[in-house]
Amino acid sequence: MADKFDVIVIGAGPGGYVAAIRAAQLGLKTACVEKWIGKEGKVVHGGTCLNVGCIPSKALLEASHKFVEAKHDFDGLGIQAGDVTMDVKKMMARKDTIVKNLTGGISGLFKANGVTAIEGTGKVTSSKQVEVTDKDGKTATHEADNIVIAAGSVPIEIPPTPLVEGMVVDSAGALEFQEVPKRLGVIGAGIIGLELGSVWNRLGSEVTMLEALDDFLPMVDSAIAKETQKLLKKQGLDIRMGSRVTGSEVKGKEIVVKFTDSKGEQEITFDKLIVCVGRKPYTKGVVADGIGVDLDERGFIHVDDHCRTSVPGVYAIGDCVRGQMLAHKASEEGIMVADIIAGHKAEMNYDAIPSVIYTFPEVAWVGMNEQEAKAAGIEVKTGAFPFAASGRAMANNATEGQAKIIADAETDRVLGMHIVGQHAGEMIAQGVIALEFGSSAEDLALTCYAHPTMSEAVHEAALAVEGHAIHMANRKKKK
Ligand code: FAD
Ligand code: AMP
Repeated sequence: MADKFDVIVIGAGPGGYVAAIRAAQLGLKTACVEKWIGKEGKVVHGGTCLNVGCIPSKALLEASHKFVEAKHDFDGLGIQAGDVTMDVKKMMARKDTIVKNLTGGISGLFKANGVTAIEGTGKVTSSKQVEVTDKDGKTATHEADNIVIAAGSVPIEIPPTPLVEGMVVDSAGALEFQEVPKRLGVIGAGIIGLELGSVWNRLGSEVTMLEALDDFLPMVDSAIAKETQKLLKKQGLDIRMGSRVTGSEVKGKEIVVKFTDSKGEQEITFDKLIVCVGRKPYTKGVVADGIGVDLDERGFIHVDDHCRTSVPGVYAIGDCVRGQMLAHKASEEGIMVADIIAGHKAEMNYDAIPSVIYTFPEVAWVGMNEQEAKAAGIEVKTGAFPFAASGRAMANNATEGQAKIIADAETDRVLGMHIVGQHAGEMIAQGVIALEFGSSAEDLALTCYAHPTMSEAVHEAALAVEGHAIHMANRKKKK
């Protein structure tokens, strides 16, 4: 038997590493088990988010957006930049450096907070034991009073499009292209597909996105989703809704993809194909059979609102449990669980978790959209403000998009905020705070916003709920 801990966390993604640091800060003897092998052949912390998710994708989105600005927008600002070109290898090297610094930073935080980092694959073998197998196949069993499973998720693979090294890739593979593909196919127009499709579209690929659903971004308010679709189309993304991929074949250096749409069976040829059809929990083998931790048929670990599994003392958080697969949701669950283990009261507000798509412009939302509120039988009033009427947006050369607030018609309570526009991902924090504090649209309308800022559009949208926006002609509102 190896060491005994108060808490052992399995997985050092944004769920697990945050849970471990919080637990250690609260005075609990904590270990975190991780098996992810980084590019240098050593175990690295940070999980999907830091290694192949949030951070590397944003590094490429930022670089490719700056490239588009320099190539197409600088002239209008009076900047003569000459012939603008992109060195893809340098862009990728910068991304790798950011990943290396951040993942190394987690190891530093573990040391600073007194978290014991254990390298290897963890398996819960009883409610108080974790068996860890290291890279040489050696096993050790560690004891803990509490266990937190934060095993994360992996991309879903579908039978019509088996992965083919360097040709048919998942989201991680799409972060590694060393040159710009001429014809790029993306299956799935969800959050990850739109971000990765945008990167390569900006760098010059002809991007075709095949999406089985008829509705574009059904979780986003339909007015915002419609505007987003129009804006992305204008940028050159060929988004084909109602197109279900049924097969693919690699022929030499090309991939022939079969799909069905309203016109019947179709075929299209690409040089590279990215499969972005969602993610699934990575829980196979994490829990030994027969110890009583329930998993559903898709592999999600069953938990209650406080992330307790069916076995006392065993918790599960992040992508491997129900709810949105988002880094900040995983981290908040990690903090909640550490607090509970330390004997504190802790809750999550699952109704106030923001989502962001880091395209340009960004799309961000929190809470209900108008169609959801109406379907739930709630009478709503809404206010929207276009960035085209914002002084700061004009100065920023970013007049596309709008901010929209959905409020309860009777109580004026804010039910949701949905935004498409530059920095929407930063602005949405206001909506999160409004939901957390149970604020009314009037509370936002009576708040003083700095001028000139993009956030003034949120202020104006709140004013527009009562038909009182200052910088636009208001729709007639009922008294
Ligand atoms: P993970 O980050 O998947 O971490 C799980 C960790 O557990 C991994 O390190 C894994 O190696 C380890 N592990 C698993 N099993 C074991 C075991 N048995 N023993 C030891 N270790 C184990 N989310 C956002 O909020 N914002 C974004 O902008 C965003 N962008 C994304 C872009 C892409 C391309 C992708 C793929 C995802 C993105 N996500 C984003 C989603 C985000 O990455 C996940 O929601 C988040 O990483 C989930 O955190 P987690 O800790 O639950 O799991
Ligand atoms: P997300 O879950 O946000 O990552 O989005 C994944 C998207 O992939 C969803 O919108 C699915 O409808 C879409 N999808 C799944 N399977 C297929 C398929 N065979 N062809 C086209 N789109 C698909």
